[in-house]
Amino acid sequence: MPIKYYEAPDVKRRVDRIIHQLDLAHISPQLVYCCRSRGSKSRYVVARIHGRRRIWQEVLNLPPAYVIEVISERYDRLAEVDQEKTLIHELLHIPRGFAGGFRPHKGYVTREIVERLYTKLQRNKPGNL
Ligand SMILES: [Zn+2]
Repeated sequence: MPIKYYEAPDVKRRVDRIIHQLDLAHISPQLVYCCRSRGSKSRYVVARIHGRRRIWQEVLNLPPAYVIEVISERYDRLAEVDQEKTLIHELLHIPRGFAGGFRPHKGYVTREIVERLYTKLQRNKPGNL
């Protein structure tokens, strides 16, 4: 069975809120898409991010764009806090230049950085003022 992709407006709303509340100004929310997949063969992946790389942008004359894919079988079982940390992790892979490429884990996407941003997110939640 091939992997199947579904719309994920709930994930998109969360991602937009995280971008906004963490002031990730280098990320254009309208160019970040979200989907939910079922049937992935990878056993441990909770989510992943895909980028529209420069070759596609230039040859098809399209802007850079990213898709955050959550793997339903794992993401949907997580507690809300871990879902949010997962989305923060994926957003951290988007580089400052927002050009369709990625930042590596080392130095950019670490547990420590995710925890720090999650704490900041809790502080910036409306109602927590
Ligand atoms: Zn990662």
